[in-house]
Amino acid sequence: MVQPTTSLKGPLRKRGVRLTRQRELLFEIIHNSHTHLDADRLYEIARKRDAKISRVTVYRTLKVLKQEGLIDELDLLHHEGDQHYYETRLKREHAHVVCLRCGAVQEFFGSPIQDLKDQVESDFGFKILLARTEVGGYCADCQSSGVEESGTGVKSDIDQ
Ligand SMILES: [Zn+2]
Ligand SMILES: [Zn+2]
Repeated sequence: MVQPTTSLKGPLRKRGVRLTRQRELLFEIIHNSHTHLDADRLYEIARKRDAKISRVTVYRTLKVLKQEGLIDELDLLHHEGDQHYYETRLKREHAHVVCLRCGAVQEFFGSPIQDLKDQVESDFGFKILLARTEVGGYCADCQSSGVEESGTGVKSDIDQ
Protein backbone atom coordinates (compact mmCIF):
# COMPACT_ATOMS: atom_id res chain seq x y z
CA MET A 1 0.00 0.00 0.00
CA VAL A 2 1.22 3.49 -0.88
CA GLN A 3 1.39 5.86 2.04
CA PRO A 4 -1.24 8.56 1.45
CA THR A 5 1.07 11.39 2.53
CA THR A 6 3.75 10.55 -0.03
CA SER A 7 1.49 9.83 -2.99
CA LEU A 8 0.01 13.31 -3.30
CA LYS A 9 2.40 15.40 -5.42
CA GLY A 10 3.21 12.83 -8.08
CA PRO A 11 -0.35 12.10 -9.22
CA LEU A 12 -1.21 15.80 -9.24
CA ARG A 13 1.76 16.66 -11.40
CA LYS A 14 1.06 13.73 -13.69
CA ARG A 15 -2.41 15.14 -14.34
CA GLY A 16 -0.91 18.55 -15.00
CA VAL A 17 -2.83 20.03 -12.11
CA ARG A 18 -1.33 23.00 -10.32
CA LEU A 19 -3.14 23.93 -7.17
CA THR A 20 -2.90 27.08 -5.12
CA ARG A 21 -1.69 26.58 -1.58
CA GLN A 22 -5.21 26.67 -0.12
CA ARG A 23 -6.53 24.26 -2.73
CA GLU A 24 -3.65 21.95 -2.10
CA LEU A 25 -4.31 22.11 1.62
CA LEU A 26 -7.94 21.10 1.11
CA PHE A 27 -7.04 18.31 -1.26
CA GLU A 28 -4.46 17.06 1.21
CA ILE A 29 -7.02 17.02 4.02
CA ILE A 30 -9.45 15.02 1.89
CA HIS A 31 -6.70 12.72 0.70
CA ASN A 32 -5.39 11.94 4.17
CA SER A 33 -8.74 11.66 5.87
CA HIS A 34 -9.87 8.23 6.91
CA THR A 35 -13.48 9.28 6.91
CA HIS A 36 -15.74 10.95 4.40
CA LEU A 37 -15.84 14.65 5.15
CA ASP A 38 -18.56 17.09 4.27
CA ALA A 39 -17.88 20.75 3.42
CA ASP A 40 -18.48 22.01 6.98
CA ARG A 41 -16.15 19.46 8.53
CA LEU A 42 -13.54 20.24 5.89
CA TYR A 43 -13.81 23.92 6.62
CA GLU A 44 -13.34 23.32 10.35
CA ILE A 45 -10.22 21.23 9.81
CA ALA A 46 -8.77 23.57 7.18
CA ARG A 47 -9.29 26.63 9.37
CA LYS A 48 -7.07 25.16 12.06
CA ARG A 49 -4.24 24.97 9.54
CA ASP A 50 -4.91 28.22 7.72
CA ALA A 51 -6.91 30.81 9.64
CA LYS A 52 -7.43 32.86 6.48
CA ILE A 53 -9.34 30.22 4.61
CA SER A 54 -13.00 31.04 4.08
CA ARG A 55 -16.08 28.93 3.66
CA VAL A 56 -16.45 30.33 0.15
CA THR A 57 -12.94 29.13 -0.72
CA VAL A 58 -13.82 25.68 0.54
CA TYR A 59 -16.94 25.46 -1.63
CA ARG A 60 -15.17 26.89 -4.66
CA THR A 61 -12.24 24.53 -4.21
CA LEU A 62 -14.47 21.49 -3.92
CA LYS A 63 -16.02 22.46 -7.24
CA VAL A 64 -12.61 22.84 -8.90
CA LEU A 65 -11.24 19.58 -7.49
CA LYS A 66 -14.37 17.82 -8.69
CA GLN A 67 -14.03 19.29 -12.19
CA GLU A 68 -10.38 18.26 -12.28
CA GLY A 69 -11.45 14.71 -11.49
CA LEU A 70 -9.43 14.69 -8.29
CA ILE A 71 -12.28 14.09 -5.89
CA ASP A 72 -15.64 12.37 -5.89
CA GLU A 73 -18.77 13.84 -4.44
CA LEU A 74 -20.91 11.33 -2.59
CA ASP A 75 -24.31 11.57 -1.01
CA LEU A 76 -23.94 8.31 0.95
CA LEU A 77 -27.67 7.64 0.58
CA HIS A 78 -28.44 10.96 2.29
CA HIS A 79 -28.33 9.17 5.63
CA GLU A 80 -27.75 12.46 7.45
CA GLY A 81 -29.67 14.82 5.22
CA ASP A 82 -28.68 16.77 2.16
CA GLN A 83 -24.95 17.18 2.65
CA HIS A 84 -22.37 15.74 0.33
CA TYR A 85 -19.14 14.03 1.24
CA TYR A 86 -15.83 14.12 -0.52
CA GLU A 87 -13.07 11.68 -1.10
CA THR A 88 -10.04 11.50 -3.33
CA ARG A 89 -10.25 9.68 -6.62
CA LEU A 90 -6.67 8.56 -6.21
CA LYS A 91 -8.01 5.86 -3.95
CA ARG A 92 -8.77 2.38 -5.22
CA GLU A 93 -12.35 1.88 -6.34
CA HIS A 94 -14.68 0.78 -3.57
CA ALA A 95 -18.31 0.53 -2.56
CA HIS A 96 -19.78 2.40 0.38
CA VAL A 97 -21.74 0.43 2.93
CA VAL A 98 -23.83 2.87 4.94
CA CYS A 99 -25.67 2.19 8.19
CA LEU A 100 -28.96 4.04 7.95
CA ARG A 101 -29.29 4.05 11.73
CA CYS A 102 -25.94 5.18 13.18
CA GLY A 103 -24.44 6.58 9.99
CA ALA A 104 -21.31 4.42 10.07
CA VAL A 105 -19.74 4.22 6.63
CA GLN A 106 -17.59 1.27 5.70
CA GLU A 107 -15.66 0.75 2.50
CA PHE A 108 -15.81 -2.45 0.55
CA PHE A 109 -12.85 -3.09 -1.71
CA GLY A 110 -12.82 -6.11 -3.87
CA SER A 111 -13.08 -7.67 -7.27
CA PRO A 112 -16.92 -7.70 -7.48
CA ILE A 113 -16.82 -3.93 -8.07
CA GLN A 114 -14.51 -4.38 -11.04
CA ASP A 115 -16.52 -7.40 -12.23
CA LEU A 116 -19.69 -5.33 -12.21
CA LYS A 117 -18.06 -2.64 -14.34
CA ASP A 118 -16.60 -5.18 -16.74
CA GLN A 119 -19.98 -6.81 -17.17
CA VAL A 120 -21.79 -3.53 -17.75
CA GLU A 121 -19.18 -2.54 -20.31
CA SER A 122 -19.50 -5.78 -22.21
CA ASP A 123 -23.31 -6.15 -21.92
CA PHE A 124 -24.08 -2.58 -22.95
CA GLY A 125 -21.03 -1.80 -25.05
CA PHE A 126 -20.58 1.00 -22.59
CA LYS A 127 -17.42 2.91 -21.69
CA ILE A 128 -17.64 3.60 -17.98
CA LEU A 129 -16.07 6.81 -16.74
CA LEU A 130 -17.55 6.83 -13.29
CA ALA A 131 -19.19 4.28 -11.04
CA ARG A 132 -20.58 4.55 -7.55
CA THR A 133 -21.86 1.73 -5.46
CA GLU A 134 -23.72 2.41 -2.25
CA VAL A 135 -25.38 -0.10 -0.03
CA GLY A 136 -27.68 0.91 2.82
CA GLY A 137 -28.90 -1.06 5.81
CA TYR A 138 -28.13 -1.71 9.45
CA CYS A 139 -24.64 -2.43 10.71
CA ALA A 140 -23.87 -5.36 13.00
CA ASP A 141 -23.88 -3.14 16.13
CA CYS A 142 -27.24 -1.60 15.34
CA GLN A 143 -28.77 -5.00 14.61
CA SER A 144 -27.61 -6.38 17.94
CA SER A 145 -29.12 -3.41 19.75
CA GLY A 146 -32.43 -4.36 18.16
CA VAL A 147 -33.23 -1.57 15.73
CA GLU A 148 -34.75 -3.68 13.01
CA GLU A 149 -37.63 -1.90 11.43
CA SER A 150 -40.97 -3.44 12.18
CA GLY A 151 -42.83 -4.69 9.18
CA THR A 152 -39.81 -5.92 7.27
CA GLY A 153 -40.57 -9.48 8.21
CA VAL A 154 -36.90 -10.08 8.76
CA LYS A 155 -37.22 -10.81 12.43
CA SER A 156 -40.21 -13.14 12.25
CA ASP A 157 -38.51 -15.15 9.52
CA ILE A 158 -35.61 -15.77 11.85
CA ASP A 159 -37.73 -16.41 14.95
CA GLN A 160 -40.18 -18.92 13.54
ZN1 LIG B 1 -25.23 1.18 12.72
ZN1 LIG C 1 -14.93 5.93 0.34
